[in-house]
Amino acid sequence: MAAAWDEVYWLMAGALIAQEARLYQEAQVDPRKPWRQWTVVERREETPDVASFLLRPADDGPLPQARAGQYVSVKVLMPDGIHQTRQYSLSNAPGDRLRRVTVKRVPSVADAPEGEVSNQLHRTVRVDDELTLSAPFGDVVLDDADTPLVLVSGGIGCTPMTGMLAHLAATGSARPVRVLHADRSPADHALRAETRRLVEQLPNARAEFWYEQGAADEIGSHPGLMDLDGLDLPADADVYLCGSLPFMRAVRTQLLQAGIPARRIRYEVFGPDLWLAHTEG
Ligand SMILES: Cc1cc2nc3c(=O)[nH]c(=O)nc-3n(C[C@H](O)[C@H](O)[C@H](O)COP(=O)(O)OP(=O)(O)OC[C@H]3O[C@@H](n4cnc5c(N)ncnc54)[C@H](O)[C@@H]3O)c2cc1C
Repeated sequence: MAAAWDEVYWLMAGALIAQEARLYQEAQVDPRKPWRQWTVVERREETPDVASFLLRPADDGPLPQARAGQYVSVKVLMPDGIHQTRQYSLSNAPGDRLRRVTVKRVPSVADAPEGEVSNQLHRTVRVDDELTLSAPFGDVVLDDADTPLVLVSGGIGCTPMTGMLAHLAATGSARPVRVLHADRSPADHALRAETRRLVEQLPNARAEFWYEQGAADEIGSHPGLMDLDGLDLPADADVYLCGSLPFMRAVRTQLLQAGIPARRIRYEVFGPDLWLAHTEG
């Protein structure tokens, strides 16, 4: 029995090692040097809890290839001397001169501690500082197609959607696009003005926002939680979904009820993917 498990273990390890090598090769990364230093060119306070960091390679070399929807890993030296790594989606167009990540600081709630890396980034990272980044990875990416798109996000889940929208605008896309976003309030909605601007640049795009508070202050937005009833979403749309797990569960159910097949709904989880374990189909 032990010998059989040993064999299974090494078969699995071999498959994963090969897969990792393939990912590095596709990303044109030398696996012996997966990290690169980037200089912070600008820091923008998007909301009281969200900051964007615009970055250029510290060696002034070319930017690595990226696709809209991908994320980078950021390796941060913590005050206890230990490095910690977290993932942050690219929130601007992959073809831009600079790369941008947009980070929400995770507060302490009840007995849970505040988020370590997000708060360290907010507290310490300023213009001219350096950050250590991986190449972009991730397979929830925008496909080059003409099908209608529905970009659905809640809270900080807007970051990959803004990157996708920026890419569509930069490439002059005429795809029909619906942008659906829910947030606590307009003031908490990171990249809100930029999202509106990008939607205006696209000939066939529309945005709808839902706010739990303050919807009356934002023209054309809906009060309360996201409600897709009556939105008339195209059944052949490719849907991208990103937000907290409760948000994604609720919206996915509504999307299925609206006639969108499950296979057309792609999602990014901002944490360990425990979703499918609790979701049928
Ligand atoms: C593909 C991907 C893309 C992402 N993109 C973005 C992005 O664009 N922008 C963004 O802001 N984030 C993004 N994230 C999330 C990001 O990677 C981090 O998970 C987030 O910033 C929190 O990290 P942290 O170190 O601050 O929190 P952590 O220290 O990792 O804590 C996370 C949570 O666990 C709780 N916790 C920790 N320890 C305990 C404990 N002992 N008991 C109870 N609870 C505890 C904390 O209270 C907190 O709520 C993305 C994640 C993924 C996987």
